[in-house]
Amino acid sequence: MSKKMIIANWKMNPLTSKEAEKLFTGVAKEVSTIKKTEIAICPPSIYLDILKKIRTSKIKLGAQDAFYGDMGAFTGEVSAQMLYNIGAKYVILGHSERRAQGETNVFINKKIKSALDASLIPILCVGENIRDENHGYFNLVKMQLEECLSGISKNSVSKIIIAYEPVWAISTTVNRKDATSADSLEMAIFIRKILSDKFGPEASKMRIIYGGSVNEKDCADFLKNGGVDGLLAGRASLDAKKFVEIIKICEASSK
Ligand code: PEP
Repeated sequence: MSKKMIIANWKMNPLTSKEAEKLFTGVAKEVSTIKKTEIAICPPSIYLDILKKIRTSKIKLGAQDAFYGDMGAFTGEVSAQMLYNIGAKYVILGHSERRAQGETNVFINKKIKSALDASLIPILCVGENIRDENHGYFNLVKMQLEECLSGISKNSVSKIIIAYEPVWAISTTVNRKDATSADSLEMAIFIRKILSDKFGPEASKMRIIYGGSVNEKDCADFLKNGGVDGLLAGRASLDAKKFVEIIKICEASSK
C-alpha cells in the first residue's frame, strides 16, 4: 500500500509572498525526518514559483485548480500544463468552494483529463452539502464520482486521489458540525465500492482521503478509524505548528 498523505489547502491565504515563504519554511524545517508520509502543500498558484525555490525533498507542491487545455483564449485562467511547468505535482479539483461558484461535474471532468495529460495528480473533491434523513447524500456523491470520472481510462485512474469533504464539516461553513471518523469510514467504504464497480481492481490503488476541519486533536482518530489514506487540511494548514503536528501524528500511525 502507498504511503499516507497529508495535504494542505491554503485556499486564498496568506496575503503576501513573505508570509507564504514563512509558513512553508516553518513546515519544511520540521519534516526532514518524515519517511512514511507524503506531504503536499497547495498554496495560491501565484506563490508556487517562490515556494519551489525553498529546498526540501519532503514537500511536494500542488495547485488549487487548473483550467482545461494547455493555452488559449481563457482570460484569467491557468492551465494544468502551466502549473506542472512551474513545479506543481498535484492539483485540487472540484473543491466545494469552486462548486459553489457554479463549477459542474462535467466541467471538473474536463479539468481532470487535462490535469492527467499534463502529468499532474488530481485530488478530486467530492462531498455533500447536507446530510438528509433519506440518505440522498450517497446518491449525490455517487453522481459526483461517476460524472467527474467519466471517460477516465482504467490505466490512469490509480493516479487520482479522492478527497471526501462533507461541506457541512468544513471549517468555514456557517453552523458547521463535526464529522466523525465513523462518517468518514462509512463514506470511504461507499466510495471504494463505486470506484471498484467502475474501474475494477485498479480502483484499489486509488487513495481516498478525508477533509473537513481536521486538526491536531482529531487527526489520529480519522487516520486510524476513518478508513482513509490521508487527510486534507484547510484551516489547520495555515498554522505551521499545527500542520507539522498532524504530519507527525500521521507518521507515527504508519506502519
Ligand atoms: C477544505 O476546505 O479543503 C478544508 C479541508 O478546509 P478546513 O480544514 O478548513 O475545513
